[in-house]
Amino acid sequence: MTDPFKNAMLQLNKAAKIMGLKKDFLKSLSQPKRILKAEIPITLDNGKKVKFKAFRVQHNNRRGPYKGGIRFHQQVSLEEVKALSFWMTIKTSVVGIPFGGGKGGIIVDPHKLSKTELERLSRGYIKAFYKYIGPKVDVPAPDVNTNSQIMDWMTDEYTKLTGKKQPAVITGKSIAAGGSLGRNTATADGGFFILMNLVKKLKMKPKNTRVIIQGFGNVGGNMADSLYHAGFKIVGVSDATTAIIDPKNKGFDSHVIEKIKEKHGRVDICTCEKIYCQCKNHKHIIKEKLLEYPCDILILAALENQITKTNVKKIKAKIILELANGPTAPQAEPELLKKGVIIIPDVLANAGGVTVSYFEWLQNMKNQKWSQNQVKTKLKPIMIKAFEQTQKNAKRYKTDLRTAAFISALERIIK
Ligand code: GLU
Repeated sequence: MTDPFKNAMLQLNKAAKIMGLKKDFLKSLSQPKRILKAEIPITLDNGKKVKFKAFRVQHNNRRGPYKGGIRFHQQVSLEEVKALSFWMTIKTSVVGIPFGGGKGGIIVDPHKLSKTELERLSRGYIKAFYKYIGPKVDVPAPDVNTNSQIMDWMTDEYTKLTGKKQPAVITGKSIAAGGSLGRNTATADGGFFILMNLVKKLKMKPKNTRVIIQGFGNVGGNMADSLYHAGFKIVGVSDATTAIIDPKNKGFDSHVIEKIKEKHGRVDICTCEKIYCQCKNHKHIIKEKLLEYPCDILILAALENQITKTNVKKIKAKIILELANGPTAPQAEPELLKKGVIIIPDVLANAGGVTVSYFEWLQNMKNQKWSQNQVKTKLKPIMIKAFEQTQKNAKRYKTDLRTAAFISALERIIK
C-alpha cells in the first residue's frame, strides 16, 4: 500500500509550489515536531498478558495546542498516524480554529476485545502519554473505532493520574462527562452543509441525485440520515465487510439500513458469496466494487487510499465528498480532475468534527453548556466560509479544491 505520509507530502509540495511557499517553512511542515511511541501492556479477561503498539504524533502547534483523534485499527502504522497528524494541522487551519495538528493510534482490532479489555487498553494509552497531553498542550478526540465511551475512560484516567479534573484535555466525550451536544453528528453535519451549498450552486435536485456512501460508522451513518431526509437517493452503502446497492435506483431508507447494522453488525444481511446476489430488496456486491457503481455523489467515509490508480478509471461519480481522511490517493487524483470530477477534500469536508471539538473545549474551559441548536448555528457559517475561501483560492491560483484548501491553511499558519 502506498505510504500515506508520502502521499500527504505530495499534496503539501504541490500547494507549496503553486503559492511559492518559503523553503524553511515547507521543511518545518514536512516532519512532525514530536513522535511518541509506546507498548501498552494489558491483561486479557482470560488472564493472558499482551502488548499493543501505540503512537501519538504531534505535528505542529504554531496556531494552538496539538489537536486530533486516536484511532484503534489493525492497520494503524506510524506512517499513517504521521499523515493524519499533518492533515489535522491543515484542517484546523482551513476552518480557522486555534489548534495545531496531532494524531494517535493503537494497532489493534477493537472488535476482538471485550468491553473491559477495551477499557484497560484505553486507560493504558493515557498512562503511556499523559505527560505529553493537556488542555493547552495536546487535545485528543475520537477517530476510527473510538467513541465517547473511550474518551470518557481516557479523561477519567487523566484525572486520576494528574489529580486534577480537566475535561478540556479530551474532546468527543459523552454529554454526562462534559461532551458537547452535536459533537456526535458534527463531522457529517459539516460535510452536509458544504454539500448542500454546492448542490444548490449546481442546481441539482436531491430527488434526482444518486448517492453512494462508503463507510457506515458514525460519520457515514449520520450522513446517510441527513441525505435521506433531504430527499437524496441513496443507491449504495458499504461497511468494513459488506456492501449493498439498490438495483432499482429508488434509494434506501437510511433508518432501515441502520437497523440492519445494529442487529447484524453490518449493512448487508446476505451471506452468499456471490458478487451480485439476487436478494429481494437489494443486491449485494463485494465492497471494493461499490465505488465503481454509477452515482452522482460519492461519499467516502471509511479509510485512506480508497481511490487509487487501480480503480480510478472506473469511478463514475461527478462529485466526491471526502469525509474520511486521505481516501483519494494523489496518484489517482489527476485522472479525476481531468474528467471534471469535483473533489471536496478531507481537510475541508470533514472539518466539522474538529470544529465542534473546539466548541466542546471552549465550553469546558469556560464552564458553559451550549444547546444543540447553538452548536449547529455556529458550525454552519464556519464551514461555508471555509468552503468559499477555498473556492476563491481555487480560482485565484487556477487549481483544484484540495490544493486551494491547503493554500488557505498554509497562509493562515504563516500569519
Ligand atoms: N478524528 C477527527 C478528525 O480526523 C476529529 C478530530 C478532533 O475532533 O480533534 O478530524
